[in-house]
Amino acid sequence: MEDFHKRFPDDDACLEQIKEQRFPQGITHCRKCLKSRKHYRVKGRTAYACETCGNHIFPLAGTIFEKTSTSLRLWFYAMYLMGSTRCGISAKQIQRETGVTYKCAWRIFHQIRKLMSEEELRLGGTGGGGVEADEAYFGGRRKNDSGRMLAGNKGHLTTVMGVLERKGRIVARVQPVSIAATSALVKEYVMPETMIFTDEGSAYNALPRLEGMGYEHKRINHSAKVYVAGEVHTNTIEGFWSLVKRGIGGVYHSVSAKYLQTYLNEYSFRYNRRDSGNLIFAALLERASETLSRKPSLQA
Ligand SMILES: [Zn+2]
Repeated sequence: MEDFHKRFPDDDACLEQIKEQRFPQGITHCRKCLKSRKHYRVKGRTAYACETCGNHIFPLAGTIFEKTSTSLRLWFYAMYLMGSTRCGISAKQIQRETGVTYKCAWRIFHQIRKLMSEEELRLGGTGGGGVEADEAYFGGRRKNDSGRMLAGNKGHLTTVMGVLERKGRIVARVQPVSIAATSALVKEYVMPETMIFTDEGSAYNALPRLEGMGYEHKRINHSAKVYVAGEVHTNTIEGFWSLVKRGIGGVYHSVSAKYLQTYLNEYSFRYNRRDSGNLIFAALLERASETLSRKPSLQA
């Protein structure tokens, strides 16, 4: 924490950081000189000027910070907090700590969570420990007005699918649980020839037959109350689901289906970097310095 305040005492320090990530030492192509030039900070503006012709560049252009009226330092602080606690941090906490409105804090978190998507991952392949695929159900009104549990009320639940490489990383998505949807998810994120472990759910029926993928498929029979048979289980990914559920229950209380994906992003991002300690913040800073045009999914 002290380290954060020392490194980023003000907005200028944050701007300098983004500039360094996008244009190390301020050196980049100048559109007027048509040459690579060094650029220096323009006082009072979020611009840097070419040392030769004075043409301005704007490191925030195209990033999530471009149109923000919130201070850069608050953005950085939120990213720092999100990267440094295992179970996430709520908009309420940052509202209390920094005095911004709840709405503003919430918007910042939402934007950062969108940055944390893991769409470019590819999992598995030959020789690893295999990939677990599993579904989970989130939210829903499980109680009626008198507080009694409603049975079989899956219509209100949001379904989530995930693929997790053992000792590796996870991709989790809000999506239907069907043969078509499950096959599409696995094909997109799991490399050919991978050993895939699932339960007996029918949504996984097509996995061994997916053309060109050559997956091996082993299933555990949960309905027969078998949970582990040698290497065949889905315990790792189930552990991830409970981590998210505990986090959402404790910190966020309830999450609408619409925003569940961004929470999954946040938990996956941290999980996938669980061995890198405080490098999670650095990884987030790197993401935040990328321009959104390279990430079409963030533009919505
Ligand atoms: Zn120039």
